[in-house]
Amino acid sequence: MAQIEKRQSSVPAPLEWEYAPAPEARDIVEIRERYGLFIGGEEVEPRSGEWLDSISPATEEKLLEFSLAGAEDVDLAVTTARDSFENGWSGLAPPERAKYIFRIARIIQERSRELAVAESLDGGKPIRESRDVDLPLAAAHFFYYAGWADKLEYAFPNRKSEPLGVAAQIIPWNFPLLMLAWKIAPALACGNTVVLKPAETTPLTALLFADVCRQAELPPGVVNIVTGDGTTGAHLVRHAGIDKVAFTGSTDVGKLIMRELAGRDVRLTLELGGKAANIVFDDAALDQAVEGIVNGIYFNQGHVCCAGSRLLVQESIYEPLIEKLKRRLSTLRVGDPLDKNTDVGAINSRMQLDRIKELVASGEAEGAEIYQPPCELPERGFWFVPTLFTNVAQSHRIAQEEIFGPVLSTLTFRTPEEAVEKANNTPYGLSAGVWTEKGSRILWMVERLRAGVVWANTFNRFDPASPFGGYKESGFGREGGRHGLEPYLRLE
Ligand code: NDP
Repeated sequence: MAQIEKRQSSVPAPLEWEYAPAPEARDIVEIRERYGLFIGGEEVEPRSGEWLDSISPATEEKLLEFSLAGAEDVDLAVTTARDSFENGWSGLAPPERAKYIFRIARIIQERSRELAVAESLDGGKPIRESRDVDLPLAAAHFFYYAGWADKLEYAFPNRKSEPLGVAAQIIPWNFPLLMLAWKIAPALACGNTVVLKPAETTPLTALLFADVCRQAELPPGVVNIVTGDGTTGAHLVRHAGIDKVAFTGSTDVGKLIMRELAGRDVRLTLELGGKAANIVFDDAALDQAVEGIVNGIYFNQGHVCCAGSRLLVQESIYEPLIEKLKRRLSTLRVGDPLDKNTDVGAINSRMQLDRIKELVASGEAEGAEIYQPPCELPERGFWFVPTLFTNVAQSHRIAQEEIFGPVLSTLTFRTPEEAVEKANNTPYGLSAGVWTEKGSRILWMVERLRAGVVWANTFNRFDPASPFGGYKESGFGREGGRHGLEPYLRLE
């Protein structure tokens, strides 16, 4: 009865019911104690003789040991990839290449539950997201580029295209398998071979992907996986035998890589950070906008390069919008990534948690107002409460720097011109969101926003057919779509 009365009150209190635990079965994924490197279609012990641990950020338990590839290991991987490029893969009939990529896509689909659990265990993201976003999109990328493999002459009519050779690919920890798919699928479709370096905190799904390659009977040496830390990435970039570097990660490391490649005949694409504006006009459907704002910044704990981390609200709707947003925040469930009801999982690493805390402290010190809903966090592991800052000035660090965590900074504007000026006032230019019911206003904004992707009345939508990439310090080059083929081809 008490519950019915509560529901009938005008503003229902959030979290009226507790959810029963809904754990995904963990034992669907078999994790070995130790993993070697994947070179030439085989698992090999690292010549460096060094190993690292990967832990679960939700519990801090050790999940596995993996190899720390040194210079000699990287050299072996690159020469193997070269050999495989010259003696097989690049000369293979395109429909044959397509066949292997298609097989990989099918196997990812078939093993998606196992891979989703592995992703959530190793990286901390909610199973709902790895199951419903990362895995379907990873498979979709392979399906999509399998389709292009034998149609390159139609992608670039009247031009001769050739593969580049060996692609060195360095990926981050926020979407480990999905970033692997974004990199490997177009590279293989264009006839290149690959040496991929996953991030230190999330090697597991790349190591399981090695098994997917074997299952697909991909010719040995076409895909090679060298795990390790930043030094492994640096060895790979420095290696004289590579023809291309594709990097996703921080702007600082992106700049280091650019310096390293200066003067060398190595193609480069960089997908770096962002500080996207999610802009809400007073004619927007507010409830939908609130969902879009939440999806924009709290999805994947805010570990998203294109996260809508700056909310720009038109002044006339500021108060109702913030009230709705606060209420919605209090319904977010933070906790066990393997629980199917969890909305916000664990922060990927202690280092990232420290960085988030430091930036949040700077926001408070600089005078912004912080709101955090009441929220019980697990005792072990790395966690951060979904956070909303209001009263933020453009000069604040939390309005300028990428926090890469579940932290939203709110600013206001009066006119569309002011919205554009504030949105563009960062060193980044990866993405933006516009919420309004007027199509003409969307087009007006899109023309003026310096962002590689602009979402209208939605946010964080991805499709393998759609190009993705940045302006300014967010990097250059495009991944996805027909555009995503170009960085892997020599076109004449
Ligand atoms: P990094 O840029 O250091 O990591 C990205 C990848 O680069 C990882 O595989 C990393 O290896 C590798 N790497 C590190 N140093 C070098 C090097 N000198 N040469 C070649 N490769 C290297 O990002 P962090 O993990 O340190 O995150 C720091 C910040 O970067 C975050 O707080 C966030 O703001 C931003 N970031 C942005 C991402 C994006 O998608 N735009 C993704 C990740 C982070 P390893 O992990 O083994 O060190």
